[in-house]
Amino acid sequence: MKINEIRTAEVRGHGYSCFVRIGTDAGLVGMGECIHGGAGIQQIIAELGSLILGEDPMNVERLYEKMRRAHVFNGAMAGNLVTALTGIEIALWDLVGRAVGLPVYALLGGKFRDKVRLYADCHAGGDDSPGANAEKAVEVVEMGFDAIKFDLDDMRSPDKKDAFNHTVSRRELDRMVAKVAAIRDAVGPYVDVAMDLHGRYDASSGARIAQALEPFDLMWLEEPVPPENIDAMREVKTSTRTPICAGESLYLRWGFRDLLEKQAVDIIMPDLPKCCGLAEGKKIANMAEIYYIPFAPHNVCGPLGTVASAHCCAAVPNFLVLEWHWLERPHWHDLVVADPPLIQNGAITLTDKPGLGVELNLEAAEKYLRPGTRLFA
Ligand SMILES: [Mg+2]
Repeated sequence: MKINEIRTAEVRGHGYSCFVRIGTDAGLVGMGECIHGGAGIQQIIAELGSLILGEDPMNVERLYEKMRRAHVFNGAMAGNLVTALTGIEIALWDLVGRAVGLPVYALLGGKFRDKVRLYADCHAGGDDSPGANAEKAVEVVEMGFDAIKFDLDDMRSPDKKDAFNHTVSRRELDRMVAKVAAIRDAVGPYVDVAMDLHGRYDASSGARIAQALEPFDLMWLEEPVPPENIDAMREVKTSTRTPICAGESLYLRWGFRDLLEKQAVDIIMPDLPKCCGLAEGKKIANMAEIYYIPFAPHNVCGPLGTVASAHCCAAVPNFLVLEWHWLERPHWHDLVVADPPLIQNGAITLTDKPGLGVELNLEAAEKYLRPGTRLFA
């Protein structure tokens, strides 16, 4: 069996997801998805894909490394090139699974669990008051989720003294505490609650926020400081008993090396359809496990990228919870042909269907295409 075509389609979601379709001379097709690859993602995938035309798709890791090493001098250690590789890698796993009749988790070594628990990323909408956020939290818990996340940073807040300065103001801090208190009070002690700061604070501000939130027993506080400075992240982590989570903008094992070796966080959250793919994601999870650090992947993908992430989450022991970020985007469910629905009671149950085990709904994908582009052209 030889790869004979690689095609892409950009579909609206969080910005645009890029779906990847790999065809073979045997007529088998594999589908993947990557996200946050930027405006040129289709061209990068075409360029990388040209390197594996005529190759046997069964050697997924060799093909990944072949494409990556061909572009090391173009920066294939991080960023769009790795994201493009990721979309191709996920499509290759789907293809190989379909070829051998096995689900992707089995190709990754088998599953530790049948159900992959999700947390819902929540926004109250225009009203960011404590009450509106508490109401949203209750609504989402009633949908069946027992883990939720909210954004705590607000760049448009009148309480911010300056849009670029990383120092938290006293009013901002009080607003954050009031929001978290209302959410915790509304959902009770047994729903896991995470809060995201999007790397917008300096180390002493991050530490102040983390310490102020200690009474609310968060599942984690996400990226209190920007991701580039591991020592600053560690400073925050060691200052507080609020668990610190980071990693959505780190790429490949090398991107996580310092973070893990310095034990600068309590939890890691690689974004598998952006930063590494499934085999590399499993290796990152395995690296984290030697430090007893849980694996809680970031994910804003459509259904293919989300289910692909779930296969990797099933195949590692230290999985904690996987993100789902489409509460306000109901077309997530339309993009896939699934009966019963993929998400039930806040979890994805993986089946024994081959490959990723899900089919893209082409009609829906066509409907949400990036304007001016074609589906798998
Ligand atoms: Mg985040």
